[in-house]
Amino acid sequence: MAQISNKRIITVAPTGAWPTKENNPNVPLTPKEIAEDVYECWQAGAAIAHIHIRDNEGKASMEFEKFRETVALIREKKDCDIVLNLTTSGGVNLLEEDRLRPFAELMPEMASYDCGTMNWQHTTIFENNPAFLEKLGLLMQEKNVKPEIEVFDPGMIYNAAYYIKKGILKTPAHFQFCMGVAGGIAATTKNLVFMLDCMNEVAPGSTWSAFGVGKGAMEILYATIALGGHVRVGMEDNVLYKRGQPAKSNAEFVRRAKRVIEEFTCEVATPAEAREILGL
Ligand code: ZN
Repeated sequence: MAQISNKRIITVAPTGAWPTKENNPNVPLTPKEIAEDVYECWQAGAAIAHIHIRDNEGKASMEFEKFRETVALIREKKDCDIVLNLTTSGGVNLLEEDRLRPFAELMPEMASYDCGTMNWQHTTIFENNPAFLEKLGLLMQEKNVKPEIEVFDPGMIYNAAYYIKKGILKTPAHFQFCMGVAGGIAATTKNLVFMLDCMNEVAPGSTWSAFGVGKGAMEILYATIALGGHVRVGMEDNVLYKRGQPAKSNAEFVRRAKRVIEEFTCEVATPAEAREILGL
């Protein structure tokens, strides 16, 4: 068997909070669409699915019933052992209690932990205040759910270091570098190297993954593989497969990431291997 250090995890983020059917008719929005999409992505090589749901109007939501139904439909497919990672943001301006409930009751192996507040896309505030982050981190420990620490700029890495020191976050931690979101750091290789240096300084031994939104998406994909990280793809972050070409499916992104990983002479981690790498 190949060494685990040569394995790269592909996370798929199929839905997110923003894309609509007008942006890309192939974005999955209903529990049934999301579950089928996740299954197809698992077959294509994804080891983790980062799940958002939408309300009946297709809007960003933390509606518990939709999470329950989506998770049940994915778990119904008995051969599919993909790791579930539920969002704890859902979008912006959603209620804290609604953000905490899905992972606390549905017990996925992972959930997102957005490690700071930011001005979101020049339009609103994506709020993750200190009291919420403490509550979220402790509840995740209590429920044995591993935080995927999402950082949109280097300051959030130092924020994570504070919560590690305080025992709110456990080590080894797992980071997701979310790059190219307006209001956060730009998606460039230089910035990725800097983010990685920051992480290694304050949280050595952490695992990490990255993605770029928009024009930096491919650069971050290739740079992440080259620098030894894991990758995230999917329509939460990009609705275009390439300039001017809407993605046909989330699996199309997964297949491309798999090709890049294999051309680099690494291997794609199975869900079981992802569990080993992340200590789930
Ligand atoms: Zn998300």
